[in-house]
Amino acid sequence: MTKPWIVSAFFVLFLVSTATAQTPAPAAAPAITAIRAGRVVDPETGTASANQIILVEGTRIREIGANLAIPAGAKVVDLSSMTVLPGLVDAHNHLALTYKMDPENNFYYLTYVMDSTAIRAIQAVSNGIQMLSSGFTVVRDLGNNGNYADTALRVAIEQGWIPGPTIVNSGIIIGAMGGQFNPTPEMAQEHSIVYPEYLDADTRDEIVKAVRQNILFGAKVIKICVDCKPYPYSIDDMKLFVSEAANAGLKVAGHVQTREGARRAIEAELWSIEHSGPLDDELHKMMAAKGIWRVGTETPFTPYRGSQQAFDRTVAGMKNAYANKVPMAFSTDADYYIPGMTRGEVAINFLLSWKAAGIPAKEILKILTTNGYKVSGIEKQRGPLKAGFAADMIAVAGNPLDDIDTLRKVQFVMKDGTVFKQNGVMTPEAFFHGGPVNGWRIR
Ligand SMILES: [Zn+2]
Repeated sequence: MTKPWIVSAFFVLFLVSTATAQTPAPAAAPAITAIRAGRVVDPETGTASANQIILVEGTRIREIGANLAIPAGAKVVDLSSMTVLPGLVDAHNHLALTYKMDPENNFYYLTYVMDSTAIRAIQAVSNGIQMLSSGFTVVRDLGNNGNYADTALRVAIEQGWIPGPTIVNSGIIIGAMGGQFNPTPEMAQEHSIVYPEYLDADTRDEIVKAVRQNILFGAKVIKICVDCKPYPYSIDDMKLFVSEAANAGLKVAGHVQTREGARRAIEAELWSIEHSGPLDDELHKMMAAKGIWRVGTETPFTPYRGSQQAFDRTVAGMKNAYANKVPMAFSTDADYYIPGMTRGEVAINFLLSWKAAGIPAKEILKILTTNGYKVSGIEKQRGPLKAGFAADMIAVAGNPLDDIDTLRKVQFVMKDGTVFKQNGVMTPEAFFHGGPVNGWRIR
């Protein structure tokens, strides 16, 4: 005998669940957040305005001013005891590379052999979150990310799966045969041990193909190794990189480690010179005249890294670049694990170098923000706290225009209009989604 009550109970359940699934969500009113800011800093001009209200609608800033009415139903965030400013930019990081003392003695040739691209992509998610928590809302991620883990990270953030900074990524570093590795002849056969950490491009055809491969697989900037081998790129080679990248609207960043390589890179008018070791007064003057970015990766001397001698050289170079009015960006080349520190804490500790160079807090802040947005090529969408720009902002307790070290304790982070950190605590739930809420077409 059947039990009709069970059947009908299931039927009712079915109706209820179907109805739930099919009821369209009520049209969401545009979410507005009103931020009461004790002080808002404009790093471009080095000025601050007191008691501002910032209205955020969706992912963008709708309005900012002293006497704005707060719309009914708006979520209010009280930062009236804080200074609000644009998010920070690290113009040179490697989020999907973390080499360590143990087991690889900080020798990333081994890291790359031991860590799959998949595990590195997951590390990149974590590193990105750590950077965001320290106030870095933009990271220019310049290679050494395995087989396009940097693209995967950018896409995952942009599609809306996870929180993270805006990523401007390079894909695989393109270099002359061998990249920055020194493979044995056995291992170098077909260069299989170099790829995918580096993309060999020795001839002009290979240069064009390598640039196109990176763009196809999601690069937003082209990174080349100018002089990692005793057969550096020629000026003509680099002009080809520049024109091929420009064909797709991209810029070229050049890693340099010799004076001749740097000179050629400047002659070829690359967009940015990565690392500052070989840059001297003459090269700085050439860079200033051509408006070429100095992304110097100025490592401070700390108990965990560097040497006094190297640091003295770094600081002297920064002073010379600053005196010559070279466009400078804040950059760390962070790609290592320091026990007890997050990737964000490692990055912000580079303030030590900027302070040692005697650069005023106001200027350091401009370099960390305005300049960072420009070198990343996103200054028309992100950066200034103005109507129409992306709602990316951070807040700190003091005034960074006077005391740059206030940036070490970021209390509040908003990314694309969503609060990521408040009262010094990460609140990332709103960033996690079970699908590509911003659209799968973002690649
Ligand atoms: Zn680097």
